[in-house]
Amino acid sequence: MIKKLLNKVFGQKIFPAATTSSQSDVKVTSANPDTKANTKKIDTSKAKLTNSHLHKIDRNLLSNGALKTCEGLQKAGFEAFVVGGAVRDLLLDYKPKDFDIATDATPEQVNRVFRRSRIIGRRFRLVHVMFGDETIEVSTFRGSHLNEASDQANAQVNDSGRIIRDNVFGSIEEDAIRRDFTANALYYNPATQEVLDFHNGVADIKAGILRMIGDPATRYAEDPVRMLRAVRLSAKLGLKIDRATEAPIEKLADLLQDVPPSRLFDEMLKLFLSGHAIESISVLRQQNLHHGLLPMLDVVLEQPLGERFVMLAMQNTDDRILSGKSANPSFLFASLLWHEVLDAWEQFQAEGNHLIPALHLAMNEVIDFQAEKLAIHNRYTATMKEIWGMQPRFEQRAGKRPFALLEHPRYRAAYDFLLLRCESGEIDKELGEWWTAFANASSEERNGMLQADTTAKKRRKRSRKKPASASSAKNAVDV
Ligand code: ATP
Ligand code: MG
Repeated sequence: MIKKLLNKVFGQKIFPAATTSSQSDVKVTSANPDTKANTKKIDTSKAKLTNSHLHKIDRNLLSNGALKTCEGLQKAGFEAFVVGGAVRDLLLDYKPKDFDIATDATPEQVNRVFRRSRIIGRRFRLVHVMFGDETIEVSTFRGSHLNEASDQANAQVNDSGRIIRDNVFGSIEEDAIRRDFTANALYYNPATQEVLDFHNGVADIKAGILRMIGDPATRYAEDPVRMLRAVRLSAKLGLKIDRATEAPIEKLADLLQDVPPSRLFDEMLKLFLSGHAIESISVLRQQNLHHGLLPMLDVVLEQPLGERFVMLAMQNTDDRILSGKSANPSFLFASLLWHEVLDAWEQFQAEGNHLIPALHLAMNEVIDFQAEKLAIHNRYTATMKEIWGMQPRFEQRAGKRPFALLEHPRYRAAYDFLLLRCESGEIDKELGEWWTAFANASSEERNGMLQADTTAKKRRKRSRKKPASASSAKNAVDV
């Protein structure tokens, strides 16, 4: 009734496929008397219905925002399901980190149902619905992108088969087929506590298998990032990548070169900040995907000191995330690239540049090179440069300098970075121990710990003679 009214108001009949009657239509009814939920028919003829006796989803594990979004949409006469990673994680007994909702309402319709919501995105138009701190992402069921001639204007592929633009609405069944893995194509209705399963995802999850929907090679060609997603999800969830899903990856790895750098960066962030970075790297190596896949990994993992440093950084990050602490992406990327910076730093010094200007040149060169493949956001590169730029300052243990360093807003990150350098064997452990003791000491004790001021004096003298290099040294530190 309300839906009819809305369709009339907006002059748009949405989701015809889902409301057409079919002999095998399954009536989905609400198990929850509080919600005026779905009593209409949706076409689930191709889906398996798993009800709460067969799956283990605890409705209480759903976030308030996810429940309210589904309820709001259903009360307005639309269909609404928790979808994707959240359902998969719930079935695997993991706490989902966020909730996505799929609906037959268009973005504009969703936007009208929720006062605190906004339409976002260009490639996919989505709606963000806000509940306090929580943001729920709502997407309209997507149609198949290449089937109908009329869709051609909305869906385009490039020469290698990659989808470059698609924004076609469709039925729930079409939506399911466009998702990547069977485990990600599950639709949970909190009102009825039923899971709609179009591709045997529940069985695959139970068997511990990550399986691509459709022909894997075609799906990777459409979107090469799916190769990284296969690695990330299998590492994160402990699922084994199905043989046919795994087989084409090595041959198709080069397609990742074609992916826009900003998307690659986002996926890298997810890969390394999943709490399973170490495991992800190990799967990348098993798949032989670390070669040429990500610009920084190749080089770093092939030099023993670099590998040790990166692995320690990853382990720290994993530990932090798994114990509920935040992890700073800048710190992680600073770690991944440090040995590149060290190499370049040495080279610039060998070419006659002074210590600090050489470091500054090295940092810029490494970041510029990465930017060609991987668009590291400016807000991260600024912090990375601060962390790197502060490293030589830890060598200065005389006069007022150590006190000034302690007050630096990035001291903590730079100090943690220093400890990693010590632990990986790059520099003498004594330096890290000195700073730990210095930071914990009383101010009197600190004065007693300072070293003789000879280097500081020499530096000051030199810097008076060459004001230009002094100012670039300052820039290097205070970027
Ligand atoms: P995570 O736990 O990292 O959030 P996720 O599977 O939920 O994993 P999202 O990026 O949040 O990943 O995507 C939500 C859902 O959207 C997925 O579960 C999947 O159904 C679909 N999806 C995401 N990326 C792709 C893709 N590249 N191709 C096809 N479907 C995708
Ligand atoms: Mg998700």
